[in-house]
Amino acid sequence: MDKQDNHTKFIFFTGGVVSSVGKGLTAAALGRCLKERGFKIGVQKLDPYLNVDPGTMSPYQHGEVFVLDDGAETDLDLGHYERFIDVRLNKNSNVTTGQVYAEVISRERQGDYLGGTIQVIPHITNEIKRRIMKVADSSDADYILIEVGGTVGDIESQPYLEAIRQLRNEIGRDHTFHIHVTWLPYIGATDELKTKPTQHSVRELRSMGITPNMIIARADHPIEEALCEKIALFCDVEKKAVVPMQTLDSYYEVPSVLEKYHVAEYLLQYFNQAAQKEPQWQQWNALVDAIHHPEHEVTIAIVGKYVELHDAYISVREAINHAALSHQARLHILWIHSCELENGQRWDDLQQAAGIVVPGGFGQRGIEGKIMAARYARENHIPYLGLCLGMQLMVVEFTRSALQDEKANSTEFDEKTPLPVIDLMPDQKTITDKGGTMRLGLYPCNLVPGTHAARAYQCQQVEERHRHRYEFNNAYRERLAEKGLVFSGLSPDERLVEIAEIKEHPFMLGTQFHPEFLSRPNRPHPLFDAFIRAALQGD
Ligand code: GLN
Repeated sequence: MDKQDNHTKFIFFTGGVVSSVGKGLTAAALGRCLKERGFKIGVQKLDPYLNVDPGTMSPYQHGEVFVLDDGAETDLDLGHYERFIDVRLNKNSNVTTGQVYAEVISRERQGDYLGGTIQVIPHITNEIKRRIMKVADSSDADYILIEVGGTVGDIESQPYLEAIRQLRNEIGRDHTFHIHVTWLPYIGATDELKTKPTQHSVRELRSMGITPNMIIARADHPIEEALCEKIALFCDVEKKAVVPMQTLDSYYEVPSVLEKYHVAEYLLQYFNQAAQKEPQWQQWNALVDAIHHPEHEVTIAIVGKYVELHDAYISVREAINHAALSHQARLHILWIHSCELENGQRWDDLQQAAGIVVPGGFGQRGIEGKIMAARYARENHIPYLGLCLGMQLMVVEFTRSALQDEKANSTEFDEKTPLPVIDLMPDQKTITDKGGTMRLGLYPCNLVPGTHAARAYQCQQVEERHRHRYEFNNAYRERLAEKGLVFSGLSPDERLVEIAEIKEHPFMLGTQFHPEFLSRPNRPHPLFDAFIRAALQGD
């Protein structure tokens, strides 16, 4: 790569000590700080697992699968990046070890390396570098944030660290910056935070040939200046480049902490660059202000089957939160496991909710509990938003009641149902591979005037992200329309039902797509906005 010609700068993020310290979030927040200064931002997450993508993993393993416009099924951190930086990413932004190996092995079979022995260095590391440079080449970004998943010291992430080390030499230190995000454990007996694991983690990083330019030290307790000085001294990083980051009430406050410690300025100074514009934080600050000084409260139940792990529904939670905050409302979420409803539990809680969301999902477990929640919402006029599976089950419940047949179902759960109102899409019937074969990504949807959907969106056509194999069975369209089911969003050829709603209800609407992926902190998604408005009115 020609150093002179290329304006792109690379900021690498690694994690130290433990995982789940918010490395992706911190990177996303820094991306926003740079965007506020007029720079174009690219993003890449390098995931060290052998799956080709997280699409086939259980949410218990991995949390939510975040879907992009082009249908890529990706890590949930990409959701943080899109929301914080307000960008739309593509498949180049998520690399997994599985993808890297699949590519190298398929080239080996084609004979690309004839005569050679294929090795981690240089073949795997070269493929990693090629993918990193692909983001740079395809995005025209000023800054590319590259996050290495996992923790320094993991066997799995070593090829990534080696690739980064090589890249720093190849494209030059004046084009690269390395941020190490670590954790300071708290010892209760002595009431102190410890820096030793951070020192060890930096030593580990240096043993791989990488010296960080900055350390972001995370902790659940206040981090005193003396501790930052100690980290600077032992880890050979400038004092100004040790950033204390105590766990915050809301992660939307992370950018303001980065601003307080002049992180973006430090970076720009390092790269000898000037900001292209003054950051405008007014709107963002208004959001944080609404978090601390709400005028209303709103309680929403999320009825799902992975509710023990909130990360499984992270975009759903955020989309509800964005809409609540735009109404100056503090959000209380009741996480209700649909199996509990089946067992007669948590109904008191459900009755506290001003609105009910049934999110996406797969498989039989807990389905009847979600249908019970939909029935409760319909009969009691409680605002309801169904997302993908939540839409399908809303339709199943409506059919059971309108056609007075409790056997109505989706063929995903009952292949032999006499009333298959939700059925496998025709082009899915011959597919046997499970990876990346659903109807994925952005598809257009035409809105029917006079419906809740059209009123919420205020336009005629929208494009939303999808991830499903089943759909509404058109054989039942007329019969159910007569009973009061409104098909308010259709694919342009009118073949596929994208949005359904219940006529005699303040707001009961389900989408075949996942609107939650396109919600932004300062720009709530229109359907979530309409749902929260209805919930606040009903309260
Ligand atoms: N399991 C359903 C389908 O495949 C719903 C998928 C989802 O909720 N993302 O159509």
